[in-house]
Amino acid sequence: MKILLPTSTAGSLPKPSWIAEPEKLWSPWKLEGQELVDGKNDALRLCLDDQVRAGIDIVSDGEQTRQHFVTTFIEHLDGVDFEKREIVKIRNRYEASVPSVVGAVSRPKSVFVEEAKRLRQLTDKPIKWALPGPMTMIDTLYDGHYKSREKLAWEFAKILNQEAKELEAAGIDIIQFDEPAFNVFFDEVNEWGIAALEKAIEGLKCETAVHICYGYGIKANTDWKKTLGEEWRQYEEIFPKLQQSNIDIISLECQNSRVPMDLIELVRGKKVMVGAIDVATNTIETPEEVADTLRKALQFVDADKLYPSTNCGMIPLSREVANAKLRALSAGAAIVRNELLNKQ
Ligand SMILES: [Zn+2]
Repeated sequence: MKILLPTSTAGSLPKPSWIAEPEKLWSPWKLEGQELVDGKNDALRLCLDDQVRAGIDIVSDGEQTRQHFVTTFIEHLDGVDFEKREIVKIRNRYEASVPSVVGAVSRPKSVFVEEAKRLRQLTDKPIKWALPGPMTMIDTLYDGHYKSREKLAWEFAKILNQEAKELEAAGIDIIQFDEPAFNVFFDEVNEWGIAALEKAIEGLKCETAVHICYGYGIKANTDWKKTLGEEWRQYEEIFPKLQQSNIDIISLECQNSRVPMDLIELVRGKKVMVGAIDVATNTIETPEEVADTLRKALQFVDADKLYPSTNCGMIPLSREVANAKLRALSAGAAIVRNELLNKQ
């Protein structure tokens, strides 16, 4: 990235209220057929426009065409039955009714490539595209076929690699894998989770990122966070192995979180997307609060590797709040950028 401290968002952004009910996960579409197709294209353009106006440097689709960051990708795969639902505990935290794996999984055709091409045509800015990570995918499903989390994750990694290669060919600059499950299943992450992620990025020439957070600002997550104690040291369990991996960028939750900032030292050498916007509150950060978080992170990340971002996706927020938070992110990053340039 040519610009110092390029800003981006972690993932989803709120959708317009005319396409889906706002401030809700898995919100059903309000349109059908061609109207839905057109509506998704319009939402994509609006979302890009909001990011550009807020001064975001690395833009995304804001997941405007997806109902959910994991489910929508899985819906496009063979081997998963969405009618056959089972209750599972997602990330050992909350119960949800999820689809079942009933046979060998495969990707009959590309999932997001058309949307990626459309976004590429709309902007010259660098684009980051998010995909679910293999471990987070298996954690959002009931597996009645492979009967092995590792095996299913490996199959998903191969599928994700096919999709990622097509996204790269469509002109995507950074492909990000969302792995909130990395913050829960530490032994599995170290045993096979990071290896599965490396399978998903195999042969890619574009930059790659992994987003590891404490989840959307929904009640199940905020309740869980209250049980984690004074210091959140989860990242410590997986950072040493992640530092050794082929992933280029690590996206983290740092604003209003109890993650000790010095844990970032464990991934020294990697680019770090530092979450400087809290997505679990409607309070808009001041630019100075954003700057303060970035300055703290700069003790452990070289300036040319620091990417100011949001803690997580913003789908549970209103568009008004999300846009104000994006502007705060840009303004806060600008403060620190100026400080760094004046020092030179
Ligand atoms: Zn997240």
